[in-house]
Amino acid sequence: MEILTFGDELLRQKAEPVANIKDNPNKWSVIAQNMFESVRKGKGVGLAGPQTGLMERIFVTDVDGDDPRVYINPSIVETSQETVKYEEGCLSIPGVWAKVVRPKTVKVQAWNEKGRPFTIEAAGILARVILHEIDHLEGVLFIDRLPEPKRKKILDKIAKQQQQAAGKASGRTLAETQGRRERGEEERG
Ligand code: ZN
Repeated sequence: MEILTFGDELLRQKAEPVANIKDNPNKWSVIAQNMFESVRKGKGVGLAGPQTGLMERIFVTDVDGDDPRVYINPSIVETSQETVKYEEGCLSIPGVWAKVVRPKTVKVQAWNEKGRPFTIEAAGILARVILHEIDHLEGVLFIDRLPEPKRKKILDKIAKQQQQAAGKASGRTLAETQGRRERGEEERG
């Protein structure tokens, strides 16, 4: 699965609820397996549908000390008043890390890939990942939760990164064009 990166407008859209998971449990198992693969490949701890262009309410978590889990149509039942500040990153915003304030614990109700309902009370990293992924389903990114001066600084950093990447890409295109010209391929059509 290709992971969309910052700037893609799908990351800013709200995902739709999944209808009748049980009608097609294989579909969701396959999607979940593909999502887990992408998480491992990216050395992440979670991934939400919209990050892969799938605009449906599904996300997965793969956190040390917990089984890999699939959450479809999740809803937050409860969050703690107590908050914690901890460093976060995102597979859709590579190379960017920042400390985000979130509730310390969360209770979530969802359905798994087989259409079985479950409720989980999470703390620590798992709670953080769950809240981060649910944000993705709403089109919200972790950098949106930073205080303004910090958010601005990070947006500038991302813009610079993307400019550099675009510069490299156009450099490559130029080299390829020159290569073709030297070999006389352009004239051939
Ligand atoms: Zn993310």
